[in-house]
Formats: sequence, structure tokens, C-alpha cells
Amino acid sequence: MSRHDPERAMTGIRREFGEHGGVCMSIERSSTFTVMKPGTMPEIFEGIRGPDKGGCFLYSRHFNPTNDVLARQLAAMEHTEYATTTASGMAAVSCALLQLCQQGDHIVSSDTIYGGSHALMAETLPAMGVRTTFVDPADTAAFAKAIRPETKVLYTEVLANPTLKVSDIPALAALAHERGCKLVIDNTFTPLCFSPAELGADVVVYSMTKFINGASDVIAGAICASRSFVYELMDLHTGRVMLLGPTMDPRVAFDISQRLPHLPLRMKEHSRRALAIARRLEEIGAPVCYPGLESHPQHARYEETCNREYGFGGMLTLDCKTTDKANELMDRLQNVERFGLIAVSLGYFDTLMSCSGSSTSSEIAPEDQAKMGLSPGLLRIAVGYTGTFDDRVAQIERSVKAVGLVD
Ligand code: PLP
Repeated sequence: MSRHDPERAMTGIRREFGEHGGVCMSIERSSTFTVMKPGTMPEIFEGIRGPDKGGCFLYSRHFNPTNDVLARQLAAMEHTEYATTTASGMAAVSCALLQLCQQGDHIVSSDTIYGGSHALMAETLPAMGVRTTFVDPADTAAFAKAIRPETKVLYTEVLANPTLKVSDIPALAALAHERGCKLVIDNTFTPLCFSPAELGADVVVYSMTKFINGASDVIAGAICASRSFVYELMDLHTGRVMLLGPTMDPRVAFDISQRLPHLPLRMKEHSRRALAIARRLEEIGAPVCYPGLESHPQHARYEETCNREYGFGGMLTLDCKTTDKANELMDRLQNVERFGLIAVSLGYFDTLMSCSGSSTSSEIAPEDQAKMGLSPGLLRIAVGYTGTFDDRVAQIERSVKAVGLVD
């Protein structure tokens, strides 16, 4: 089977010119749209017409032309029929799950996911009658064992936040479909590196706040899926995106669309630098974890299922064992070496660092953190691409030695 080429798909889609032939598209800011013939409006409400069913826009919480350009670019990149944009990654996760699950339904989820997604499934959804069983993301058999008659969704991140375990997407897709479930994948850590829909996922969600936008200046999300699922989400009477209303501002859609053409270059450079840093850290004996290292337990699985030209991604971890040691290292990296910034999030051009257990995974109880292999001193590093390559490697090497993480 020839692999889908996300970069080619992104450049191959119809070019949107601006209103006066501008090389950039125009931003459509109207909240509402004129319907030229009165008979068309009921057809839009019935779902017979939409932007790709007769070209008719109604209201910007439904479809908006600028958001729709970005959605179509994302769908091309993801190899899905269609997509919709949302105001945040959490909106994408929650709307997708609420569309797929009703009261009494059940989800089997990876236990190692972004803390907000974990809290949604552990705390918020149970109050609506939707329960979740959490399992090890690297263990497909554990997913199979946890499936019940009422299970509707299997959920995981390609690369687990923050332990970087790799899920077996083709095996999970086969399992989901055999048992009548949908596979929902969060691909936030690995855009382009993975094409989960091509590997069998039904729904791919993103926090575009991260690598896809790449500038840490907007909060944004996306749901990429079949045309029928996107129309379900946008159904005027029942759709979760339509009714919960996490609408993207079209100015944000414009900004992200302008940055999408250099996402392939950025991902390759994030990956190149992260791999070099991880290799050097491993050479000097530092406790580093990175899927590009042969020592990573799912290195082979990653290699077999990824789009190789984009590498192993920009995320690595260093297990400093204690929070104090992780803080000492971050302090040195930011305030002495100027290697990166102590900040949550990822996918920025500068390196961002945080101690996951006490920040983005703090929603997860300490005993559950221990169960999923998250040590209190796990330092998550989202490797950026500013500064010279050699300086960055030297800075981190000096720092891990200075704090006594290696001799
Ligand atoms: N998914 C993952 C893997 C994340 O890391 C995050 C945020 O850190 C989210 C979803 C939520 O995204 P947002 O902050 O854009 O709502």
C-alpha cells in the first residue's frame, strides 16, 4: 500500500485567493450570511445544504468560510473526508466524545493522556452517565479486556503525554471495529509524523495550540473525521459543536492557515534536534526517554507506523526522580544557560519545559501517576529550533552534569 503523503496533500488542495486576487485568502468575519432564496434556509436547517453541499453558509457558529478553508486543509493533511475547527483542543476532545457517547455508554481510554482529557473522562463525563476505564496505552490486550457491551469509544494519544509510550494504532483500530466501537486518537504531539486515520482511526482530534499553530499565540482545536461525522457535530438541532458552541474566531483560522505550509519544515527540525539531544543525553548516561532511541520500549512500533520523513517528534523526557531535582535542572536550563523556557505547552519555536506530575498531569492522583509510570521528577521537554544546534546540545549537557544527573 502506498503511504498517504500529508505534505503533498496539503499543497495539492485548491488555492484560496483573497478578495482582490491576493495571495493570502480574505478573512470572512460575518456572523451571518444572506440566503438568496427564502426556500434555501429550511434546507440548511434540515442539513440538506451546507458549505460542501450547495455552497450555502448560514451562521458562523455553524460553518464559516475561513474556518472551513482551514478545516479542508486539515482534512487533506489528515487524510480524512472532512474536519471542523474548534476554539480549543479541549473543545475538540469533549465535543467528539459527547457526540459519540450517550448516558450509559462507556469509554476505554489510555491512562496516560493530557491531564485535562483525563479529568474530563474521570470526573466530568461520569456526572453525565458516561464512564471510562483507563488502561496502559502500550498494551492493546488491556483495551480488549476492558471493552464491555456498552463501550462506544477507544481513546488514546499516539504518543502518551507525558511518558511518551506509543500506542499501536492499527491494532487498536482493528479491535475497535471488530467490537463495534470508534477509535478516537489525539494526534497533538505528532502531526504529520503520524496519519492516524490512514492507520484506521475514525476520529482524529488536535490541540492546534501546539505544533500545528507553532507560535504559542492562540488556543485552537480541530476534529478530523468522515463527512457524516462532521455533519453530525454541526447538526443545527443536535450537533455537539453547534450546540456547545466552541466556535473558532476566523482571524485565528486565518493565522493557522498561514502557518500550515511550514508545518512540515518545522516538524522535521523539531524531530532532528530532539533526536540529536536525546542521543547525546543517552551517550552521557542521562535518564532520557525519546521514541527515536532504540532503547525506547516501543521504538520499533513507532518506526513501523509513522511517516518516516517527519521523524520521532519534538518531545523528550528526563526522569530527575524528584520534583526538586527537576526544578533545579529547569532553573539552570532557563536562567543560567538560556536553553529554554519554564512553561507548559509544546510545539513552540523556543524550547518549553515543565515538570508534568505537578503541572499538566496534576489532575491525575499521585497513586495513578505512579501506576502509569509518571515519576514526580519527570521533566517534559518540548524541543524548539531557535539558537544554534551545537550550542543547544552543549547547554543541556552542561546542565545535566551541573545538577548531578550524570557524573
Ligand atoms: N491534548 C493534548 C495532548 C494536550 O497536550 C492538550 C493541552 O495541553 C490538549 C489536548 C488540550 O488542548 P487546549 O489547551 O488547546 O485546549
